[in-house]
Amino acid sequence: MQNQTVGKKGRRQIFAGNWKMHKTSGEAFELVRALAEGLKYNEGREYILFPPAPYLREISSLCGETPIAAGAQNMYFEDHGAFTGEISPAMVEDCGCRFILVGHSERRHIFGESDSDTGKKVAAALEQGLEPLLCVGELLEERENDETGTVLKRQLEAALSGIDRDQMRRVVIAYEPVWAIGTGKVATPEMADEAHLLIRGVIAGLFGQDAGDVVPVLYGGSVKAGNISGLYVKENIDGVLVGGASLEAEGFLAIINA
Ligand code: PEP
Repeated sequence: MQNQTVGKKGRRQIFAGNWKMHKTSGEAFELVRALAEGLKYNEGREYILFPPAPYLREISSLCGETPIAAGAQNMYFEDHGAFTGEISPAMVEDCGCRFILVGHSERRHIFGESDSDTGKKVAAALEQGLEPLLCVGELLEERENDETGTVLKRQLEAALSGIDRDQMRRVVIAYEPVWAIGTGKVATPEMADEAHLLIRGVIAGLFGQDAGDVVPVLYGGSVKAGNISGLYVKENIDGVLVGGASLEAEGFLAIINA
């Protein structure tokens, strides 16, 4: 395992930005430079950017001399073949990436990615030496029907059933309630902490108590400078995955330097 820092809760603390399908190359490179310049590096934290795929190689190289790492937003699970429009785990690695997002709610709900696809992607990423950041989260309707625990368990079991305890040490989880993504509706710190505890319980059931205790669980869903502190003080929240607010240097720096 490369460079894993362990922070205040004895677990890796990770601050990540998902740029989705935004920015020209010039804007993206400028943003990386501004972040590298404004970052108040805390050695207990890891910083990851998930830019659009065409900029990965250049952004990985721009990040080279900084504490920031790059990751891809998506990949396919096969090594190579007739899969038009897809990129392979080896291509992601070849672009200098260490991380890969898997199972983001937009992949699941817009592009029809299934629980079983996420399992294949997690296994393929680990096989390639990448570190998967697996996103899980319930729909509003599922929360209202008291199904949050069932949904998280189903998503986690499907995504992680093909890997072993040793591989699990390289997996990061992001709890991203679908109703909070890009909506401005953030989960309360208590709600998020409770879901994170549930996630630890599922991981402990699959891989043993140690695995549940050490797995980094990030929160994602309308995180901003104004709500980061309340979330991050919670015992089970090991960092954040930020979408909209990671697109602009000042706001994202206020989050990652918080
Ligand atoms: C995301 O895309 O993972 C996300 C959490 O988005 P936002 O911060 O915009 O809600």
